[in-house]
Formats: sequence, structure tokens, C-alpha cells
Amino acid sequence: MRNVAILGATGSIGASALDVIARHPQRFRVSALAAHRKVDELVALCARFQPDLAVIADSAFEPALRSKLVNAGLHTRVASGEQGLREATTSGDTVVAAIVGAAGLDSTLTAARAGKRVLLANKEAVVMAGALLLDALKAGGGQLIPIDSEHNAIFQCLPAGRPDLARAGVRRVLLTASGGPFRGRTRAELAAITPEQACAHPNWNMGRKISVDSATLMNKGLEVIEAHWLFGAAPEQIDVVVHRESIVHSLVEYLDGSVLAQLGNPDMRTALAHALAWPERIDAGVAPLDLMQIAQLNFEAPDRQTFRCLDLAYHALAAGGTAPTILNAANEIAVGAFLERTLPFLAISELIESTLAAMPSVAVDSIETLVHADLTAREAAQRIIRRAFC
Ligand code: NAD
Ligand code: MG
Repeated sequence: MRNVAILGATGSIGASALDVIARHPQRFRVSALAAHRKVDELVALCARFQPDLAVIADSAFEPALRSKLVNAGLHTRVASGEQGLREATTSGDTVVAAIVGAAGLDSTLTAARAGKRVLLANKEAVVMAGALLLDALKAGGGQLIPIDSEHNAIFQCLPAGRPDLARAGVRRVLLTASGGPFRGRTRAELAAITPEQACAHPNWNMGRKISVDSATLMNKGLEVIEAHWLFGAAPEQIDVVVHRESIVHSLVEYLDGSVLAQLGNPDMRTALAHALAWPERIDAGVAPLDLMQIAQLNFEAPDRQTFRCLDLAYHALAAGGTAPTILNAANEIAVGAFLERTLPFLAISELIESTLAAMPSVAVDSIETLVHADLTAREAAQRIIRRAFC
């Protein structure tokens, strides 16, 4: 029996994880559920999954959570804040790291240090702190299994374990990208894009932040950096190919000319079931792939002139040090401002570029260096917004 803590339980990945867990009560039990502020949804999930611990990250909501659990006749233990998230993280043997953004960094590192099986969806944590996360995993002796569909696909296409790419005979990894809702559009056509349009992804139903990232291609940029850390791939070994159907989730090209791909319907439950049961295979509730019905799979190069975030991410990866942390922080501020309608869609990449230009990248020697770079970059990005857009 695996005891699973779900951080980000009320989100899109949280729901997919719980759906898979509910299909296999003999295999999985929920030890803790954690959410940001959605008390009612968290209480409903506690009623259904009976965890030992419920955590609300925003401590202001702890009293409401307590009383609503009692009113629902539940005896779930309650905690809140960063300490509460740490308790949730260490409550079982497996952690679904599905908090969105830098807010998930501390708990992801805690899970790695504690030697858990970490099911990693929170890509921002790897982008910000790749080297520290790898150190923490090594020290903790646990396992990281990627949930991001592309990285889960690559994990499945590589030999078992965490292989050295050179020794495994890998030439490169190819990340597929749907191209988002604006594939094929020109910059002029993107000037007046609204949050609603940006969040209407053609193939995936996801949280708002990652939906905007998909529309700008920053999601793929973050995934390039994620692939670098998770698989030890050099930047020139990571390519991006636009594949509008989102059926091929990514590919690994070997020196002998073989290219292995993982295919499936675009449904995150496949990656979650794979990682929860690994190395076994279980039913995920996902419809079988019908290739006759799909009939065609298309591939094309990404439009890097229109969607500049992809190259910004490659540059930040090449620059190293705190550059990816700055990129991620500026992107979180930019996406937040776009969702609040204070920043136009095309200004997202401009803001990230200006923030990177305004801040030197320094070597990452500690978590404090990272946290400082993250905060300073957020302040710099907010200053640029106030100057240019308010
Ligand atoms: P979402 O917005 O649907 O859910 C986010 C979850 O994080 C919610 O449960 C929310 O309560 C929690 N949260 C938000 N801020 C928090 C904070 N400050 N402290 C604690 N908890 C907080 O997002 P999502 O689509 O489920 O994505 C979650 C993560 O998974 C992101 O990093 C995203 O990039 C990654 N991911 C998502 C998908 C997908 O299909 N949705 C695919 C690949 C990777
Ligand atoms: Mg992905």
C-alpha cells in the first residue's frame, strides 16, 4: 500500500491524481491533502478520501477549515502554512508535487530530502533550483518520477534508472509542443489577446498559469530547462517540435538512428498512473488510443520569432546560475499581470527579457541565493510593469 500526499490537491493535476488513486483502493491511500485557499473543495476531498491530515497553505483559512471539517463530521488533523506543507510532505511515502509556481519549491525540496517517491508536476521548482533539487534527491535517496507529460514520456523511453545520456547512447531528446491556442498566428494578431482566449487550450484542460505558459510557449521553455536537469541533457541535445495533436508526448533519439516515442491520448492520468505504480502498470481510466481515428500526426518547427519565450528560456539555461530563477520569477509576475489584465499578451516576453537584462546571473551556492534572486527579480519585474504599463 502506497501512502500518498497530494500537494495542490484542488488543482487540475491534483484531481487527476485523485481520480487514479480512487480507482485502486487496494494499492493507494491518501495520507495528506494540501491546497492554497479553497476550503470547501478541500473539505469535500477530505470527506471522500479520508486523509490523516488536511493542510491549507494560507494560514488565514485554517479556522474555517477546522470548523468546516468538524461540521462535516470529519476528524481530519489540520495544519497550515509552510510548516503544514512540510508535515503533509513527510506524511506518506509518495508525494504528488502539484503546487503551481515557486510556492511549491520548499515542499518539493523537502520531499526530495526526505527520500520520498516524488511525482513531480511542479516544473517551476526544477527550473528555479535544478541543482539543489538533484542534491536533495541524492542525499534523501528517494526517486523522482516526472509527471509533466513530455518528461514522463522521455523517462519511459530511456533505459530504467537515471541513466547517463552519453552511456545510454542518446543523441538528443525531442520535446513535443502542441503550439498552444495561437499556433500559426502572427504577432499583430496576438496584440489584443484576452486571458479567456489564452486559457482555452485546444488539447489539455489545465490550471490558468500553465495555460498561459502554453500560449506563450514559455511552458516549453520551462520544460527545456526541466529536461536539462532531470535527464542531464546539454541544451544542444534538447529540441522542440510542434505536434498539434498532442498524441506523441516526446521522443528520445539514439545514436544508432532509433527514435523511441511514447504515445497516448492527452490525459494527465496516464503519467500519474505510470508514476504512482512504477515499475508496474495499472489502469488510468484513460480511453485507449485509436490511431485509425486520429489518422494523421503532424510535426513542424516552432515559430520562435512570434513566441519569443522559448528562446529566452534557452538563453537563461545557457547563462546558468540564477538566470533560470530570474526567468521563472519574471514569468510568474508577467502571467499574473496578464491574467489581471494589466499587461498585454505580447508584453509577457518583453517583461521577462527586460528583467533578465536588468539582473546579473550569479552562481547558485545555496537556497538563500535562489530565494534572494527570486524576490529581487519579482520586484524588478513589478517596477518595469509600473513604469511601462500603469
Ligand atoms: P492549478 O492551478 O489547477 O492547481 C494549482 C494547485 O496548487 C491548487 O491546488 C492550489 O490550491 C495550489 N496552490 C496554488 N498556490 C499555492 C500556494 N501558494 N501554496 C500552496 N498551494 C498552492 O494548476 P495545475 O494545472 O494543476 O498545475 C500544477 C503544476 O503542475 C504546475 O507547476 C504546472 O506547471 C504543472 N503541470 C500541470 C499540467 C496540467 O495538465 N495541468 C501538466 C504538466 C505540468
Ligand atoms: Mg508538459
